[in-house]
Amino acid sequence: VICPRCKEEIPPGAEVCALCDLPGAAPEVQDSGVMGAIIPTKNSKALLAYYLGVFSIIPCIGSPLGIAAFVLGLQGLKLAKSNPLAKGTVHAWVGIVLGGIFGLLWTVGIVVAIVGAVAKE
Ligand SMILES: [Zn+2]
Repeated sequence: VICPRCKEEIPPGAEVCALCDLPGAAPEVQDSGVMGAIIPTKNSKALLAYYLGVFSIIPCIGSPLGIAAFVLGLQGLKLAKSNPLAKGTVHAWVGIVLGGIFGLLWTVGIVVAIVGAVAKE
């Protein structure tokens, strides 16, 4: 619980802030509003997963980006579920799906290319 004025943490036993005499407010309770629904500013993992997922379409760098997007997407989805106000479920899913598909595709592509090159020897 954090004081809305001085941002000091209010101890669990205390009802009000010792400095301002104000009741505390949990920082997560504040709804990020319409903008938060479009851009999940409170769910940076989901947002990052989204961008990494989109960039994982690019060959060569897509393999590590896709894997990172997949992992971050799962973490972002977990955060969105535990705290609905964090939002970012859609962004997390985009990261999981795009990252999962392209991460796997490029990784398989690299493995096939290596195996193909070795087989020619
Ligand atoms: Zn205070």
